[in-house]
Amino acid sequence: MKKIVYLLLISLVIVSFGFEKSTDFAPKKINVVIDLGHGGTDFGATIKNIHEKNIVEQIAKKIKSTNKDVQLYFTRTEDQFVSLQDRVNFINELKPDLVLSIHVNANRDNQKSGAEFFIATQNDFSKKSTEIANELSTKLSENNFIKINTLKTAPFFILKNTKAPALLLELGYLTNENDFKYLTDGDSQDKIANSISEYLSKLQ
Ligand SMILES: [Zn+2]
Repeated sequence: MKKIVYLLLISLVIVSFGFEKSTDFAPKKINVVIDLGHGGTDFGATIKNIHEKNIVEQIAKKIKSTNKDVQLYFTRTEDQFVSLQDRVNFINELKPDLVLSIHVNANRDNQKSGAEFFIATQNDFSKKSTEIANELSTKLSENNFIKINTLKTAPFFILKNTKAPALLLELGYLTNENDFKYLTDGDSQDKIANSISEYLSKLQ
């Protein structure tokens, strides 16, 4: 009987040590903010009754459901209006490791197509942002239906006021027939979300 109690005690110690190991020594996850462009009364680009705000929500949800490796935060979780200042306040309080602002584009010229990355040179982290933009665009180009345009700089409010590496990603043009198809197609959205998610996981 004594032996059984002794064995039980040993196993308890092993179990509790195991738990301690998984909590205290687990690597700290990096914090990533996904900024969902537009929302609520701000529809963003709208073509054939398809709104930019909804497309970015669909893709953000897919990233959330596939990624457990990084700590994800979102500037909005539903179809609601959030001012640019409130977004920046939320981000700067959180001090994340990366901010990824997701949008889709529109243009009068329906031949314009492809994804575009933007960074702001006014941001102190612009060098890191450029590095991440280049890596993520390489990752996204593996989805061979996405054309990646050259990296651009722009003083967008979110980018220049965020105190963290930050990039804005226009995933394609709703005004271009081919881009419209992949931006609104569930399987293509999955591929885009998976690429972004896989890239974020490697940032650990
Ligand atoms: Zn937008």
